[in-house]
Amino acid sequence: MNETPMRARAVVDLAALRANVRVLRALAPKAQLMAVVKANAYGHGMVPCARAARRAGAAWIGTALPTEALALRAAGDRGRLLCWLWTPGGPFREAVEADVDISVSGLWALEEVLAAVRAAGRPARVQLKIDTGLGRNGCTPGDWEKLVAAAREAELGGALRVTGVWSHFACADEPGHPSIRAQLDVFRDAVAYAEAQGLAPEVRHIANSPATLTLPETHFDLVRTGVAVYGISPSPEIGTPADFGLRPVMTLTASLASVKRVPGGLGVSYGHQYTTPGETTLALVPLGYADGIPRAASGTGEVLIGGRRRRIAGRVAMDQFVVDLGDDTAEPGDEAVLFGPGDRGEPTAEDWGRATGTIGYEVITRITRRVPRVYV
Ligand code: PLP
Repeated sequence: MNETPMRARAVVDLAALRANVRVLRALAPKAQLMAVVKANAYGHGMVPCARAARRAGAAWIGTALPTEALALRAAGDRGRLLCWLWTPGGPFREAVEADVDISVSGLWALEEVLAAVRAAGRPARVQLKIDTGLGRNGCTPGDWEKLVAAAREAELGGALRVTGVWSHFACADEPGHPSIRAQLDVFRDAVAYAEAQGLAPEVRHIANSPATLTLPETHFDLVRTGVAVYGISPSPEIGTPADFGLRPVMTLTASLASVKRVPGGLGVSYGHQYTTPGETTLALVPLGYADGIPRAASGTGEVLIGGRRRRIAGRVAMDQFVVDLGDDTAEPGDEAVLFGPGDRGEPTAEDWGRATGTIGYEVITRITRRVPRVYV
């Protein structure tokens, strides 16, 4: 570990990430695993996390943005890589040249791929995405026949190979939600139709983390796991990470910037939303909303200092927030743990989600690049 004193650090435990990938592979033994590393690997750092996931047996890496996929190639990743969030004019040619599997949700994207194939002088790998009921990206079932026909024609002409047919769940994190069955039915029909038209996708996939953890019948040929790779539970209904043998990968800590004794009746931070109830000790944590700490944590978030959990006093500012230590003592430079696996009594990312009206996904992903990542 880098021992240079730091204002704050997000310690990323790559051994935990590798162990999580192995746990997920064991849960879906007949499927390949795709580690989703979009959004800077949910805040953990894309390149090191992708490398660690590969080492632990992730045959695929998934990104939303083409820039993310191309950055992985530039960093030396040579494995299978699916990228799914395209806009007209995007770097289709670069993706074809870099052997990225390109998700196609509509005819406009297929045309972009075909133009890229002509420019690159080599065939593309394409995965057709059907919107089975998320109502977000993906071809509607009504347009599926046209998309399959156009893709099959392009495949027969040698311009591309359809390597996958795939979709994404809306409510897999709510066990028993009726949309799960409904989406699976639409997905099975869409795959059967594509295969009847002559397509032979290598991978058919729909399972995200919650489906991978709880619904084996959704695993098909590949599971696309994001949040579980980082050891975070998709939702309280699904369970805790420990229920599945997963371990949170990120621990966010800071060094106290000041500790001072103050009288009662003192207004604390902008708006004076907290007033010291009596003489007390205030500690200053040098992290704020510019670092990704939710302002909604004002008065609700908790941190671990000196082995005790303490509530944030008053508003979270851009760079700092205050914690009331009561009569406990601390020194500038002492560690404040915002969230982590919870072993030492610190809150988890899920606790922060509950305290701030959001989900663990957002808590980890929003930590900005201002906070150095330290890999252990
Ligand atoms: N697949 C797609 C298309 C996604 O957008 C995401 C993330 O939102 C995932 C897979 C991974 O989801 P999760 O983090 O719930 O595993």
